[in-house]
Amino acid sequence: MRSGTNLPRVRDYNQGVVLEAIRVGDGVSRVEIAENTGLTAQTVSNIVRRLLEEELVIEDGVDPSGRKPRVKLRIKPGSRYAIGALIDRDETSLVLMDLDGRIVGRESRTVDQQQGAQGVLDQIAEATKSLVQAAKIDPSRLLGVGLGCPGPMDHDQGILYEPLDLFGWNWHEVALKQDLAGRIGLPVIVDNDATAAAVGERWVGGAQGVRNFAYIFMSIGLGAGIFIENQPYRGDTTNAGELGHMTIDIDGPLCFCGNRGCLETYCSPNRIVNAVRLRLEHGEKSSLTDIPLNRIDLTAVTSAALAGDSLAMEELRYSARMLATGIINMASLLDLKLIVLGGTHMAEAGPIYKEEVEQALNKRLLTRNLQKVCVELSVAGKDAGAVGAAALVMHEIFAPRLAELNVVSQF
Ligand SMILES: [Zn+2]
Repeated sequence: MRSGTNLPRVRDYNQGVVLEAIRVGDGVSRVEIAENTGLTAQTVSNIVRRLLEEELVIEDGVDPSGRKPRVKLRIKPGSRYAIGALIDRDETSLVLMDLDGRIVGRESRTVDQQQGAQGVLDQIAEATKSLVQAAKIDPSRLLGVGLGCPGPMDHDQGILYEPLDLFGWNWHEVALKQDLAGRIGLPVIVDNDATAAAVGERWVGGAQGVRNFAYIFMSIGLGAGIFIENQPYRGDTTNAGELGHMTIDIDGPLCFCGNRGCLETYCSPNRIVNAVRLRLEHGEKSSLTDIPLNRIDLTAVTSAALAGDSLAMEELRYSARMLATGIINMASLLDLKLIVLGGTHMAEAGPIYKEEVEQALNKRLLTRNLQKVCVELSVAGKDAGAVGAAALVMHEIFAPRLAELNVVSQF
């Protein structure tokens, strides 16, 4: 639990600390909040009164176990909502989430590459309206929309720059934030999909109490969302965490980014599928032999591996071992406590990767005898990207962060 400060000028920071304590503590009392955060009883009491007035929290029952009965505090269900949209190569997926991390609506739409950026934003605007209508929520309680997508991008301005592999030339310098806000009349926040997933992991209950961790987000591409000292680390141009383009071998295979031997070229879902197809073409035995080559996709390979197919398993394990190498490099550089594995691919093949990454960290990390780095699968599962995008909105408004108090004014 992080500590608050009693300085009157950082009242909003303390409010964020108390709200977080209530969210994480679910049923926590004012006395416990004061104990856990280091804030005075009076400060906690004042802030809780304000949170009750703003209908962000509720008093929900009494804990009779102490010397004096203590009123339990919880986030008010349905008090505020955010929509999160993840843009990936083949589809956009959206969730409607409340302040407590509860998902009350989902929608996904297929992306047609020909429709271009503006067409995809039209789709997201439509899906936003339909989600709000279907869930029958009060639209005034919807705070905004978070958008997660692969970079490079300018997070502050919400502009996407040439995600080379994903969309092609017609996505160059797209003002995602401005263009979507214009369509829906709500604040929009844009972030790298991996960073969004890391923020979301925290919001829905994972990585609790871990100051330094990385969220490895693996879907079509590969990236890392990094938390340093309890805050997302975005770097100087807001593009930190491009793990997929860490060089593993300068003479390695050509990557779409123009360099050779990027980590992604060894472990991406595309590489796994291509490797399996190639081996089948060469006549190797597998339970996948009878499936036409063009119908073999990642889901088929993963299912075969989990059902005991050794060829499919070998390729997944190779990918996992290579990813583990990249993760060791990152953990060596950043000194992390936890690695979270998430994204569409991890939702299916996560256990295989978890085993390989754990083993590699235990055996090879320089600091292995000092502290064990934990490896966990994302608690958000298949929704991780969209949940993360929704959490961006909540995080910007409610999470305690001294340096970004001014961001609240955008909403
Ligand atoms: Zn690359």
